[in-house]
Amino acid sequence: MHSLSLNDEKNSAVYPDEFGSTDGDNVAITVALGDGIGPEITHATLRILSAAGARIRPEFIEIGEQVYLAGHSAGITPEAWQSLRQTKVFLKGPVTTPSGSGYKSLNVTIRKTLGLYANVRPCISYSPYVHSLHPTMDVVIIRENEEDLYAGIEHRQTDEVYQCLKLITRPGCEKIIRYAFEYARSHGRQKVTCMVKDNIMKMTDGLFYKVFQEIGTDYPDIEQDRYIIDIGSARLATQPERFDVIVTTNLYGDIISDIAAEISGSIGLAGSANIGEHVAMFEAIHGSAPDIAGKGVANPSGLILAAVMMLVHLRQADVAEKVHNAWLKTIEDGIHTADLKGTQTEILVNTSQFAAAVIARLGAEPQKFKPVRYQNAAPVSNANIVSYQAKPLAKKVIVGVDVFIHQHELSADQLAERLHKLTTEAVELQMITNRGVKVWPGGFPETFCTDHWRCRFMVKTDHGQLHYSDVIRLLANISSDYFDVIKTENLCSFDGEAGFTLGQGQ
Ligand code: NAD
Repeated sequence: MHSLSLNDEKNSAVYPDEFGSTDGDNVAITVALGDGIGPEITHATLRILSAAGARIRPEFIEIGEQVYLAGHSAGITPEAWQSLRQTKVFLKGPVTTPSGSGYKSLNVTIRKTLGLYANVRPCISYSPYVHSLHPTMDVVIIRENEEDLYAGIEHRQTDEVYQCLKLITRPGCEKIIRYAFEYARSHGRQKVTCMVKDNIMKMTDGLFYKVFQEIGTDYPDIEQDRYIIDIGSARLATQPERFDVIVTTNLYGDIISDIAAEISGSIGLAGSANIGEHVAMFEAIHGSAPDIAGKGVANPSGLILAAVMMLVHLRQADVAEKVHNAWLKTIEDGIHTADLKGTQTEILVNTSQFAAAVIARLGAEPQKFKPVRYQNAAPVSNANIVSYQAKPLAKKVIVGVDVFIHQHELSADQLAERLHKLTTEAVELQMITNRGVKVWPGGFPETFCTDHWRCRFMVKTDHGQLHYSDVIRLLANISSDYFDVIKTENLCSFDGEAGFTLGQGQ
């Protein structure tokens, strides 16, 4: 962690200003320059913030490629964590994740470690000054940031099969969905659309949509609808005007927010906020762009607009408004970096010249775009969101067990025959599936089978309550016959409702 030194040749060339003369009035924020184009766009952004009078005191940390290569597998040092936990506000340049399985994504690590549950990405068209197929597009994507397939729990289970666990939790759904409604309300937005794939993933995506419907009743003033993610993404790409605020799970949100940013004009334009109960992080949505790094031509707009969101978060609405309006005026004046070059470009500038053009317009308002007004803006209050009330515990009863077996010698019928002989007085074999499709009883020869078999045992009707000791006895029998058991999943009912899905074809 260090303060930018004015004697530092690299820094002083692009960042000659100090923030405020009396540091005591300024809010400490943590800043990471990042990799690739990161230092160029972060210096440009900081110059603008300084010139606009942002009441901030940047504390610099090292993250990213060099930190990874120095042996920190998540790309961040203990000192950097300390700064983040103290300042609670992070302006972050993009980082390069070295390829190789030994490195964990820094972004995912920061989001999850600091509980940054909401990823907010406004995707807005700046037509006609930036070419866009969708001139009136103005969509905010609110993506769940901690769960889903990004839990990072992956296993190789057999020679042929790899698994990634998709975890969706009720507290996680409640937080992100309430955040989306609160965001819509506090930002004058009319509609929230939920995007899921609950026709296939009935339990996980089904929970997300169920919670959306439940929480939606608290927001009758906000229009609500739902799309299956596949058609929803297609409509977003072709008719983004249909959407206002979209709330979705982690992976879908990751994908559709890049699509939305790209079709709005350029990936270089969008900023994002990662909001948690204690800490918030602000960054451009693009990466470190190694192909143009060091050339000084990158568009700093994504990080500038992320910094505007940070200023609103810091309740410096006056500065946020000044920077955003100066940026809009720069764009409509046709002062563009190379990625925005088009028929409306009057002057093609590099990163540093773009920052200078924004600084020259501080205090001016756009004439063609509608000026932004942040005077009444406030960050979404966490108070309404994080107070998750645990529900009364359900009556949970084990009614069966799925035993996953790795084997490639036996057919489904042969496997069933062997397993029949190994069952106990408590359970009976009900079904075998392969990749989720029922292959016994009554499978089709056309069904392709791998070496990964899910064998479902259910409690016998004349047996009383099933206990985990019954499962252990069953497993002991199965393993005594030299089967390679990969794992088990208990089949439970919760207040009488099945907590598991049927096999396909069951
Ligand atoms: P990228 O976003 O860095 O680049 C994609 C394309 O967009 C490139 O052609 C690039 O030149 C262009 N581009 C991106 N930002 C631009 C800007 N501000 N101005 C002008 N052009 C811009 O994506 P990538 O190449 O897939 O990833 C490069 C590295 O960034 C990878 O290591 C990746 O892991 C990392 N990454 C980091 C973040 C982050 O830190 N938040 C996000 C995405 C990717």
